Amino acid sequence: MRRVSNDAAALAGAFRARTGQQPAGVWAAPGRVNLIGEHTDYNDGYVMPFALAQRVLIAAAPRHDGSWSVTSLNNHSTEVFRAADLQPGMAGWQAYVAGVVWALQEAGHRLGGADLVLSSDVPTGAGLSSSAALECAVLAALADLNDLDIAGLERAKLARRAENAFVGAPTGLMDQAAATLCTAGHALFFDCRTDDAEQVRFDTASASLEILVLDTKTSHALVDSEYAARRASCEEAARILGVAALRDVTDLDSALERLPDPVIRRRVRHVVTENARVLEAVDVLRAGRIADLAPLLDASHASMRDDFEITVPQVDLAVEVAQACGALGPRMTGGGFGGCIIALVPAGDVERVAAEIARSFVDAGYGAPAHFTAVPSAGAGRLQ
Ligand code: ADP
Ligand code: MG
Repeated sequence: MRRVSNDAAALAGAFRARTGQQPAGVWAAPGRVNLIGEHTDYNDGYVMPFALAQRVLIAAAPRHDGSWSVTSLNNHSTEVFRAADLQPGMAGWQAYVAGVVWALQEAGHRLGGADLVLSSDVPTGAGLSSSAALECAVLAALADLNDLDIAGLERAKLARRAENAFVGAPTGLMDQAAATLCTAGHALFFDCRTDDAEQVRFDTASASLEILVLDTKTSHALVDSEYAARRASCEEAARILGVAALRDVTDLDSALERLPDPVIRRRVRHVVTENARVLEAVDVLRAGRIADLAPLLDASHASMRDDFEITVPQVDLAVEVAQACGALGPRMTGGGFGGCIIALVPAGDVERVAAEIARSFVDAGYGAPAHFTAVPSAGAGRLQ
């Protein structure tokens, strides 16, 4: 994916150059990182993502021939589809766009065609959910163009349906909920069973901290099968324990005694302790004690490394070096087997910590990582 200038005025100009008309508006939806709560979503548990300043922008206007034309400035590609082409399993990046049209129509909304031109500065495939950003931006644009009155949570569910049932990726609701519901300066405490959402103040500047996101640029070839295996272990454990989901395990010790398999015991211990850590993290943030997140984030990483076994050497090295450089609570964020780490870093220290990690990667013979300072930002909406 190409890096492109990502502001609304530039995108509106690109839209005019391509279509010869003004866009009816410009909409945006952000990528996200998860602060804490990993692999808890499909166990009916708790997560706490926040939206990034990095986002997908979409300029759009109605079309009157019943087709949708979508251009991504990132991959320089234009795709056109009509209602008859909306078959689940569609190949290519445009499936994320067509899937949103499909999900809206399936839900009974009437949609006219549209010209869509988009650009994004959300890194793709890094676990920062560029796919949900794309879906939620398309949804915001199409909802407004067609005068559809759809509440935030319902938008997130429609976007998730596009990803699950049309693209075919079995993800939970966290990514689309974050891209839709987050507000600037907050993390989103989200209950994956009840869909209850609470904005929790996450003002790192008040604690003289900044948020480093470092992309290790690694991804494991077996990530899909490993993810499926973790889900299957959790489902099996819930079945043995006679609960609807691991969220319902209230007494960890007695649950562990009832599980014969040591691997499944470790998986359960991760999910149950991780849910508890999210709840503690919410309390810590509600009290404005941001630095006190550190032991929870540390324990989360150790649990992913030792119990859920979803980290890789590059990720563990990045976390160790960040810790040695004085970062608080460095941990892997996202589904695992590569991707990004997140760390709370004393203000002004982000570049130094990132440079130390990059140096350690050179020494270890790993490829160069990438990084940025994350700013908790707003969810999807209209910009102009
Ligand atoms: P992640 O969501 O973690 O970034 P995914 O594999 O779920 O990774 O989604 C990445 C895919 O989303 C890309 O391979 C591409 O198909 C699509 N995508 C995301 N952003 C864009 C974009 N700006 N232009 C075209 N396709 C995009
Ligand atoms: Mg994705």
